[in-house]
Amino acid sequence: MDDKFAFILPVMQVAFGVAAVLAGRWRVSSAGWWAGGFLASASGFAMPAIAFLVPLAGRAVLASGVFAVAFFCFGQALGEHFGLRRKHVWLRAGIALAATLISALGVAIDSLRLHLAASDVGCALLLLVPLLAAHGRTRRSGDRALVAISWVVVADCTARAVCVRWLASGGIASFPTSTYAFAYQVSGSLLGVAFAMAALASVMISVLMRYRDWAICDPLTGLLNRRGFDEALAGRGAHEKAHATAIACDIDHFKAVNDQFGHHRGDEVIATLAAAIDSHLPARAFAARFGGEEFVIYLPQGALDLAGAGIASAGAQLAEAVRRDFAQRMQRLLGRDHPVTASFGISAVAAGEASLEPALRRADQALYQAKSAGRNCCVVKSALAASGAMADAAAPTRAATLPA
Ligand code: GH3
Ligand code: MG
Ligand code: MG
Repeated sequence: MDDKFAFILPVMQVAFGVAAVLAGRWRVSSAGWWAGGFLASASGFAMPAIAFLVPLAGRAVLASGVFAVAFFCFGQALGEHFGLRRKHVWLRAGIALAATLISALGVAIDSLRLHLAASDVGCALLLLVPLLAAHGRTRRSGDRALVAISWVVVADCTARAVCVRWLASGGIASFPTSTYAFAYQVSGSLLGVAFAMAALASVMISVLMRYRDWAICDPLTGLLNRRGFDEALAGRGAHEKAHATAIACDIDHFKAVNDQFGHHRGDEVIATLAAAIDSHLPARAFAARFGGEEFVIYLPQGALDLAGAGIASAGAQLAEAVRRDFAQRMQRLLGRDHPVTASFGISAVAAGEASLEPALRRADQALYQAKSAGRNCCVVKSALAASGAMADAAAPTRAATLPA
């Protein structure tokens, strides 16, 4: 490869490193590791620039060391991105050290093949370990692109290590003119750019996802907020929504809880109801905090496997389970002398209704009926009852053993 071209690789890697440093200002934990990896690999590719200072053998040992550091950082960045944190960190540090030492041994005995193969195998393993550990954790298309290009880098390092006997021969001094040096600069240029782009994209996607989560989630409870509820609902099919149930829920006499125990304790009570709701949510159901101490649950048909039960009945059973659970959790939090309870209104989408909105309205009315009926109970309201065709909502349900 033309020597004039050689400076492009380290300059590109420095540029990616600086971009990752800047991305780190959005507090994405992987960004710093990406930056460290790109800057270390830039210094590895820049070794010819210090030829006047350090002899070839010294540069070869230095290069294998900084590439081991670079791939250790890349592996750590992958781990951070996929939530593995410090998993296998000592194993990877050991691989980096072993690869550097064996590669240095290759320099010491003037075996170019041992020197190169040890470094390549080390780099491949340093990415392979976190890639295997992250298996099954890829959720977004950006993640899949990052994993795919990482596998290509692993394959590239492995292929060079396997083919080193054809790509390089003789002593360390023959490296600059070897086919290996050409191959590694070509793959470093092409794969290096693709890998860096995927890495920076993954950092950006993490930032976007964090702001998206903040936009649709309630920070106190971790449940959806109203915007998140609407978005989740929009993602469901018309047939599913036509057979769904809405459950509205509100903590009883919550103002008194705030007055007696303080706002901070009140927040804990809200989070406790959210946890009770969350622990009873079947698959495909979701819940949101609509404001204050009011929650709404979306329950699609079939989410609860109740033989012969209609969807509203399934909703009533879910609400009843949450009501009991919440009362028990509150006994543990504030003691038996200070019972705190919640009331629930339930309504199913009726035939011919095009959205969840009417069911939500009826569930809200049913909630008010539950409040009027003495609180700490569940009331079901059907569309027929709402239109006056039926006498009234179902009788409130309440377990006699629980505090009224
Ligand atoms: P009811 O049984 O009729 O529901 O009576 P209530 O006292 O619970 O009445 P209401 O539902 O109107 O009370 C809402 C109270 O919730 C008023 C407000 O001070 C309190 N609140 C709203 N948001 C929060 C919050 O984020 N944290 C805390 N601690 N309190 C909140
Ligand atoms: Mg209330
Ligand atoms: Mg309220």
